[in-house]
Amino acid sequence: MARYRDAVCRLCRREGGKLFLKGDRCFKPMCAIEKRGTQPPGMHGATARRKALAGYGQQLREKQKVKRIYFVLEKQFRNYFEKASRQKGITGENLLFLLERRLDNVSYRAGFSTSRRQARQLVNHGHIEVNGRKVDIPSFQVKVGDVVTVKNKTIRNVHVEGAWNTSGGRGRPNWISSNAQDFSVSILALPKRDDVDANINEQLIVELYSK
Ligand code: SF4
Repeated sequence: MARYRDAVCRLCRREGGKLFLKGDRCFKPMCAIEKRGTQPPGMHGATARRKALAGYGQQLREKQKVKRIYFVLEKQFRNYFEKASRQKGITGENLLFLLERRLDNVSYRAGFSTSRRQARQLVNHGHIEVNGRKVDIPSFQVKVGDVVTVKNKTIRNVHVEGAWNTSGGRGRPNWISSNAQDFSVSILALPKRDDVDANINEQLIVELYSK
């Protein structure tokens, strides 16, 4: 499967704001946005001026931003949109809920990692279990009642332990409850719009794909 291999801070600079893709580093002065501001990446970045976007340009940037936050490639993102548009309710919100329910996102939200990228690696490498069974598919959709845990021997991993201990500050969403005894979380409900904390205007994505 295709993967993005370039520096992720470039993605934040392209979108002109923090997407929080690098975990703890995003909250420190060494964050590229803190150091260099929102100047776009590339050799002409320093001299390029950001134009005020409207219409198609604005819709495109919003779609790219959401894709990058959740680390989803174009085809898969489009599939999520198609699925969201077939569901009852508001398409834009359905799209965000499908993204939120991905196992890699839930692992990040749960506090098993400091970033979604790190969470995806945990899932890919078989460190995450759902209802006691290993699931190594990052796009796996969790449902209400599922219990997501870190494998027993992974709990002692210094990165997982560190992420879990600092994740309290980030805050877990209301639809997830955590159990500090065994590094597990339960899915209490489906996410609501207020639980998606990123500054996203999903309606722009709906308009883009509805053209
Ligand atoms: Fe974005 Fe984090 Fe890099 Fe800052 S450190 S530019 S928030 S990925």
